[in-house]
Amino acid sequence: MPVKKHSIVFCSSEIFPFVKTGGLADVSGALPVALAGHGCSVKVFMPFYKGIEKFGVGSNGYLKKDGVEYFFIKNKEYFLRDGLYGNKSGDFKDNAERFSYFSSKVLETLKEKNISPDIIHLNDWQTALISVYLKTKYIDDPLFLKTKTLLTIHNLAYQGLFEKKEFSKLGLPSEVLNKGYMEFYGKINFLKAGIYYSNIINTVSPNYAVQIQTKKYGCGLEGVICERKKDLYGILNAIDYSVWAPSCDALLDYKYDNKNVSAQKPQNKIVLQKIFNLPIKEDALLIGMVTRITEQKGFDILLKKINDILKISQLIILGVGDESYQKQLELIAQNNDNLGLMFKFDENAAHKIYAGSDCFLIPSRFEPCGLSQLISYKYGTLPIAHATGGLKDTVVDVSAGGCGFVFNEYSSKSLNEAVCHAVTVYKNRKKWAEIVNKAMRYDFSWDKTALEYIKLYDT
Ligand code: ADP
Repeated sequence: MPVKKHSIVFCSSEIFPFVKTGGLADVSGALPVALAGHGCSVKVFMPFYKGIEKFGVGSNGYLKKDGVEYFFIKNKEYFLRDGLYGNKSGDFKDNAERFSYFSSKVLETLKEKNISPDIIHLNDWQTALISVYLKTKYIDDPLFLKTKTLLTIHNLAYQGLFEKKEFSKLGLPSEVLNKGYMEFYGKINFLKAGIYYSNIINTVSPNYAVQIQTKKYGCGLEGVICERKKDLYGILNAIDYSVWAPSCDALLDYKYDNKNVSAQKPQNKIVLQKIFNLPIKEDALLIGMVTRITEQKGFDILLKKINDILKISQLIILGVGDESYQKQLELIAQNNDNLGLMFKFDENAAHKIYAGSDCFLIPSRFEPCGLSQLISYKYGTLPIAHATGGLKDTVVDVSAGGCGFVFNEYSSKSLNEAVCHAVTVYKNRKKWAEIVNKAMRYDFSWDKTALEYIKLYDT
């Protein structure tokens, strides 16, 4: 069946390669390009942050690249600062103003340019208000009569919660607040309003779409989500193999593919052990983590068993986040050669970790999709993961024919058992090489996944 050539406006607060703090940027960088590859007309909107000029963006905030048109919304006061959402002292105090400004500016720009999209694709709370403006301020505007909105929830734990007094700055009719569409335990909630006002809602894995309907994973929004159940979908994220492939990764010292992985990957392991001052040991199972250092990512259970894990493996952690976890990790590293730490956001080190590690640890308490297990597969690095959210959809234990080490119960004991399992299998190098080979052949490309989004736009 021919694919419908939709006209799509895609809005996101972070997009790789322009800016990135996490998986949202990876998705927002790759999906629009893949949609354009299927013949859709795609216009992407993001704030004009500090440093955007270096990507060749004109002073009008416009760039055309890879078949996609980018519009960077300018506001010196709101966006030309260090940090996207906050700094060391916490979230920026004016985030409600900043992102409601961005959201209304997107629609104003469409008006100015007379653009009438079939779909406005929103991502997370930062752009969720676009649906609300569209269904209130622009409800009778002929330009948007056929326009539908899709809101993708990348992580329900981040909702855009603000004091009620901020409402008056949003330029929305009072009914939005009075009818309860935005009210959340005495505050206002951007994501909740987006869930009410968007035509379609999806999240980034089938399993997380089910989980967020429950109290345990619903972050207080399970009621609203259940109300919209018939319009809720789960589409598994993919990864961009033009960024993430060891055969053409410019950040690696030793590139490799399926054919020479057994010779080249150990070289990358040595590079990594040197960077992190770990003992150069070929036979030690080297486990990598590239992650936000937060409770979500499983640091509570990891810290309880980390000394046991370091007796049987080496562990490298690259990340930024919670200072108390960082301090605890630093204390352990002072007395343990097998733990390597780097507390910063570093693309270069991230690529080297995916390539040089034998395993990749993702002990997340909850995980909407998780991209790092998908990246790891491509680099022949086997995930050790808690079976939750998208990790459950994508990581199958080696004992069940998969390429990972899975633990079902969120506990330090189960995590430790999964690591022990990996250590045991690693000793059988022939078997390990077979699993690595299989993992590297998995296909989680955007090309396929973009078609699922196109189908969703048609609903
Ligand atoms: P989340 O979006 O919850 O942080 P994901 O697994 O969806 O988690 O995506 C994380 C992305 O951010 C991956 O591309 C990962 O490699 C990257 N990343 C996370 N922390 C860092 C870091 N400190 N340095 C470089 N890249 C990082």
